[in-house]
Amino acid sequence: MRRPLLNRRLAGLGTTIFAEMSARAVATGSINLGQGFPDSDGPQEIAQAAAEAILKGRGNQYPPGPGVPELRDAIVAHQQRFYGLSYDPATEVLVTAGATEAVAATLLALVEPGDEVIAFEPYYDSYAANIAMAGGTRVPVTLRPPDFRPDLDRLSDAITERTRLILLNTPHNPTGAVFTKPELEAIAKIAVERDLLVVTDEVYEHLVYHGEHTPIVQFPGMRERTVSISSAGKTFSFTGWKIGWITGTPELVTAVKTVKQFLTFVSGGPFQYAIAQALALPDSYYRQLRDDLQQKRDLMAAGLREIGFGVYEPAGTYFITADIAALGEHDGVGFCRTLPDRAGVVAIPSAVFYDDKEAGRTHVRFAFCKRKAVLGEALTRLGKVFT
Ligand code: PMP
Ligand code: GLN
Repeated sequence: MRRPLLNRRLAGLGTTIFAEMSARAVATGSINLGQGFPDSDGPQEIAQAAAEAILKGRGNQYPPGPGVPELRDAIVAHQQRFYGLSYDPATEVLVTAGATEAVAATLLALVEPGDEVIAFEPYYDSYAANIAMAGGTRVPVTLRPPDFRPDLDRLSDAITERTRLILLNTPHNPTGAVFTKPELEAIAKIAVERDLLVVTDEVYEHLVYHGEHTPIVQFPGMRERTVSISSAGKTFSFTGWKIGWITGTPELVTAVKTVKQFLTFVSGGPFQYAIAQALALPDSYYRQLRDDLQQKRDLMAAGLREIGFGVYEPAGTYFITADIAALGEHDGVGFCRTLPDRAGVVAIPSAVFYDDKEAGRTHVRFAFCKRKAVLGEALTRLGKVFT
């Protein structure tokens, strides 16, 4: 008998929920609050910089493997400016095809078959796929409502002799939790004591409405064991450009680069120059982005509450988790599958981000990185069906 075409480590990985739901949105003419992408592009001057780079022949041929020097310098300057962190642009930065490739290359570089990777669930869907590609085993530690705080005892208990690394994501997609300084300090202490690597996905670092973003790498003993990942997609509203990066010690960056060079080698030449310029935008840009999204968060939270959803107000990211139990609904997956036809709105069932499906059964995620009129219309449509 012929064996299945898809290699068995990846069995069960179908189309991503984001692709599935975006296709449903198009097919039904629904408002897409599923996949997280803004419906307004980032700054015009940055788009102009990308266009000029193409026309002036900057980056149209393969850029250097680690990224163009201008972007590596800008990433280093960004880490210094916002967090007081120092990196060497020559050896401690690697530009990637979005955070997606950064996570994939990092896990493929650091994880051996049989290694265990601890991640807080619900987790971003590519983590499970990448751990599987590396032959690792994922070990979830569940973030629970209402606050989705990391349970540090559970984390300690989850560590075994086979644990290789902790995969963190703060601000956290999909819950919107922002890990606090004491929480991150405690996680760092555990990582040092148990001699674990930490991979930290910080793509929503500038989308924080309550509290502040703390990079875990700043705690004692973390610099040598942390791979930090971020991306321009969320910060500059150009998710299609796919410019991401990692920062870490030369040894960690070299390991990840070894994999990355055989995945894409390089990508996005002209966009790299534009993002170098974007990272240097003044504080007012970053403040405005946050303030605008905070208003949209408040609009969605109030609107969903009024309709009757349970609402977990996010401290960060551009996602809001709503509980449908209050509406008398019990299954988020079924709810999201029928929502486009029922209401003309698309949302993502949070259960897809859990191993423990029960934990997220009645939760659904709405993206609020859309124009206010669009959010208002989505709320009107939901209100008609559920109030
Ligand atoms: N990590 C998280 C937590 C995300 O939400 C996303 C998605 N947008 C990514 C990584 C991927 O980022 P990019 O689009 O830069 O590949
Ligand atoms: N990060 C986006 C989200 O969480 C989706 C990106 C993708 O479709 N891969 O909605």
